[in-house]
Amino acid sequence: MKKVALLGSTGSIGTQALEVIEKHGMQVTALAAHSQANLLAEQARRFHPSVVCIYQKEKAAELQELLKGEKIEILTGMEGLCQIAAMQENDIVLNSVVGMVGLLPTLKAIEAGNDIALANKETLVAGGQLVMQTATEKGVHIYPVDSEHSAVFQCLQGNSMNRIRKMILTASGGPFFGKKKEELKHVRAADALKHPNWNMGNKITIDSATLMNKGLEFIEAKWLFDLQPSQIEIVVHRQSVLHSAVEFEDYAVIGQMGVPDMKIPIQYALLYPERQPCPTRPLSLTDYGTLTFEKPDFETFDCLRAAIDAITEGGLLPAIVNGANEEAVGHFLRDEIGFLDIGELVQEAMMHIPNAAIHTYDEVLAADRAARAFVREHIQNR
Ligand code: MN
Repeated sequence: MKKVALLGSTGSIGTQALEVIEKHGMQVTALAAHSQANLLAEQARRFHPSVVCIYQKEKAAELQELLKGEKIEILTGMEGLCQIAAMQENDIVLNSVVGMVGLLPTLKAIEAGNDIALANKETLVAGGQLVMQTATEKGVHIYPVDSEHSAVFQCLQGNSMNRIRKMILTASGGPFFGKKKEELKHVRAADALKHPNWNMGNKITIDSATLMNKGLEFIEAKWLFDLQPSQIEIVVHRQSVLHSAVEFEDYAVIGQMGVPDMKIPIQYALLYPERQPCPTRPLSLTDYGTLTFEKPDFETFDCLRAAIDAITEGGLLPAIVNGANEEAVGHFLRDEIGFLDIGELVQEAMMHIPNAAIHTYDEVLAADRAARAFVREHIQNR
């Protein structure tokens, strides 16, 4: 059984991962969370890691109090995350933190030779080239946890010698599929947080409503499977049963299906290459009856177009798009800007921040900061 370090343990992916870990009796080396000291302490008492990290330093004293008497080291901040990611005891690091914050710990884990189960898509969106290059140099495996990429990874088993002609990246379409811009003007955070199929954290749920999530996944797919943007087709599939598919050179298409439950891809990444019973339910195709497939509406969901343009041009643009989006989504969640402003701000940031080739982590970080600052200023000056 692999020993797992879990970054983002109190989030949606983190708590589901612990269900999987518990079911299979896997060992937890370390747990890291953003700010939920109570839940983190509860998890630590249950899974006995040697180290925990709370990202928000102000919560450290509270956590210390909660874990009094336990032999568990307590770390904080980005240093703590990176220290956990690089621990030699880890066989695999599950990175499910939210946002660009996940990039540096991913790089540190790879440099230390630890395999990655990757649920933090921003890692590959902002720093895809750096991450993939470092992983190849270090001989580290990156197992996708995102359901679409896990689907493709599963479809490729036994097919490593065959060239992918095309990837079919399925999208649920989110809560506003079929709507036009005019109808989305007055959408508030509470409306966007109602996703039809998946139960997820706030940031990704908003990204699903704008379809930016699919744009980020498009970029993630390009890096994970070494594809050209022209090889990836986005198909709206409202039921989220076909999690994605691969077309080979003979036009044979292999897809992966299952109920929309993240525990299946989480478990596949953690137990790979083994398949074991999973704490979820089986798929009944006849209960669904009909599966539908439609073209995405790039006009209404301009975030999707922006992300595809960004990776097609390359360089720092994906990091700029990601940074601008993270910042804008934060403001939208606080009801400070409208739903359509997210896409507008992302496109403005793409136009105004100069693009360049990526060589280092610092360059990615600078582009991310510039994009966030641009969005903040733009909102203030309205
Ligand atoms: Mn996904």
